[in-house]
Amino acid sequence: MKRKTLLLLTVTIAALFWVGTLIAHATGTTDQHGKQDGKANARMTIQRRDNKEAGQTERTGTLLMTNKTTGQMKNRGEQQERNKVVQQTENREAIKLARALRRKGINDARVLAAVEKVPRHLFIDEKLSAYAYHDRPLPIEKGQTISQPFTVAFQTQLLKLQPGEKVLEIGTGSGYQAAILCEMGVEVYSIERYHLLYQTAKETLNKLGYHPNLYHGDGFEGLPEHAPFDKILLTAAPEEVPEKLLQQLKIGGWLVGPLGGRMGQKMTKIERISEEKFRKTLHGDFIFVPMQEGTEK
Ligand code: SAH
Repeated sequence: MKRKTLLLLTVTIAALFWVGTLIAHATGTTDQHGKQDGKANARMTIQRRDNKEAGQTERTGTLLMTNKTTGQMKNRGEQQERNKVVQQTENREAIKLARALRRKGINDARVLAAVEKVPRHLFIDEKLSAYAYHDRPLPIEKGQTISQPFTVAFQTQLLKLQPGEKVLEIGTGSGYQAAILCEMGVEVYSIERYHLLYQTAKETLNKLGYHPNLYHGDGFEGLPEHAPFDKILLTAAPEEVPEKLLQQLKIGGWLVGPLGGRMGQKMTKIERISEEKFRKTLHGDFIFVPMQEGTEK
C-alpha cells in the first residue's frame, strides 16, 4: 500500500514537472524567453510580409510585434536590435507611403529615402496606428498635430539640405519631422513650446537612435547661442515671419515656413541674400497649427 502511494506520488510529480516545462516554453515567462519571443515574432512578421495576400493583417501583426518588443528592451544592444527589427518590419508601409508622395510630386530622392526609413507609427498614439502611413495629419497631445507626410516631405524638399548643414526646426511636436531631418544627415536643432511634447519626442527619437538637439522654449526667440543656421524650418504658422529668426540665418541660407493667419497660410521661402537683403518666394496654400508665444507644460 505504502509502495503504491509512493509510486503514485512520484508519477504525479514527474507529470507536473513536465506540464510546467511545456507552459514555460509556450509563454516565455522569463526575460530570456521574452527576448526569444520577440525575435520569433519578428521572423513571423517578416514571413507574413512576404505573403502578398496578407494585406491589412500584415500591419496588425507588425504593430503587435513592435509594441511587445518595446516593453522588453533594456540596454543599448537590445535597443539597436529593436531598431533593426523596426526598420525591417516597417519598411513596406513606409515605402508605400514614399511611393504615394512621389506620385503627388515629391521628387527629391533623398527626402523619399528618409520617409522610407522613419517609422511614423512610433510618433503617434498607438490607437491611431492604423493611419500611421496614410498621407494625413494626425492629432498628438496638447491639441497639436503631426503634419501630413506630404507637407513634411514638401517642406524638407524646399530646404534643399546638404549633409552637415545646421538646421533649426520650430515646433518639434511628435519629433517625426526632426527624425526626417536626422535621416538627411544634417545637424538638427529643434524647439517645442510644450514641455510634455518636448519630453515625449525626446524619448521617441532617442529610442530610435536619433539624437537631435532638442529644446523646451519659445521658437519666436530662436537659438541665438547656436546661430547662425544654414536653414530654418517653421512647422507652426506665425502671422508674419519672426524677425529674430531671420537674423539667425546665415547669408545664403533660407527659412521655409507657412505664413498667415488661422484661416490658411502661404508656404514661404525667405532667402538671406546679404546682411540686410532677403528674397521671398511663395509655394502654395497650407493649413498649420498657429505658432504661439511663450512656453507651457
Ligand atoms: N514638426 C512637428 C509638427 C508639430 S505641429 C511634427 O513633426 O510632429 C507644430 C508644433 O509647433 C506644435 O507641437 C506646437 O506646440 C509647436 N509650437 C507652436 N508655437 C511654438 C513656438 N512659439 N515655439 C516652439 N514650438 C511651437
